[in-house]
Amino acid sequence: MTQMRAMMLDRPHMPLILRERPIPSPAAGDVLIAIEACGVCRTDLHVIDGELPRPKLPIVPGHEIVGRVAALGQGVTRPALDERVGVPWLGWTCGICPYCRSGRENLCDSPLFTGYTRDGGYATHMLADARFAFPLPDNVDAAEAAPLLCAGLIGWRSYRMAGEGTTLGLYGFGAAAHILAQVAAWQGRRVYAFTRTGDVASQNFARSLGAVWAGGSEEMPPEPLDAAIIFAPVGALVPSALAAVKKGGRIVCGGIHMSDIPSFPYRLLWEERQLVSVANLTRHDGREFLEVAPRAGIKMQVTRYPLQEANTALADLRAGHFEGAAVLIP
Ligand SMILES: [Zn+2]
Ligand SMILES: [Zn+2]
Repeated sequence: MTQMRAMMLDRPHMPLILRERPIPSPAAGDVLIAIEACGVCRTDLHVIDGELPRPKLPIVPGHEIVGRVAALGQGVTRPALDERVGVPWLGWTCGICPYCRSGRENLCDSPLFTGYTRDGGYATHMLADARFAFPLPDNVDAAEAAPLLCAGLIGWRSYRMAGEGTTLGLYGFGAAAHILAQVAAWQGRRVYAFTRTGDVASQNFARSLGAVWAGGSEEMPPEPLDAAIIFAPVGALVPSALAAVKKGGRIVCGGIHMSDIPSFPYRLLWEERQLVSVANLTRHDGREFLEVAPRAGIKMQVTRYPLQEANTALADLRAGHFEGAAVLIP
């Protein structure tokens, strides 16, 4: 086989188009990956909707990739040929800026992001920098592992940022919350799940994954929370979440994009409540989470779509037509 297929975005607000092109050879330091599965993330919608600045165009979206190494660029010794790997959002960092040199490569001054500023995994093949491909075990289902690469990793970074409290609110019960609810329940924490008002299906889904309570996002939980993570890209949730946390509580915004946050009275922030955001991930986050995930016994609920149905998968994500995560299978 010399040709590959990819779903490409030519410019924002357009449907993705299926294209064939020659399979590329990996440059020095890169690996060619034959893709087994690629998760569909809300960030892909932000790229397609033109809500993130300066994407590479045209771009192949997708940053939750599971595949096998099909060719090695010059100088690459790890991963090995035919090894199974996962490729996340963080696709390349400079290694020399103050953030890279202080263990905060998630904030690198000149990074490349998979499926945004370098081509991603809505395809049969892709190139990745070998240093940013995580080894994955052979004994997991590729589609079920794919959402761990973003919803899991950035979710994990948000989860750690939320601190050690026993009561945790999750606003927006999509792929990331569905993973973290299981981690939190495994650690003995009490999870409160907040969904769109009246979304009984998502609320039942949250309870089935260990949430002790589930309700609409404007409701107050039955007890004050130690912390809350907001995954839904809805700025109006910030004052709601601040009102739901106790003194010293922390709100973590886990998404890359959010609608404007409405003004709110200072008393909601008073008493040392904190409001922070989480950006991207470090490779350390990735290694740590991929070690935790099997121990926590995370079960992924995935809806599979053929690669060429990517536009349908994105529309279903936007409309909330499935629980858990959508995954493209080339
Ligand atoms: Zn850097
Ligand atoms: Zn993502």
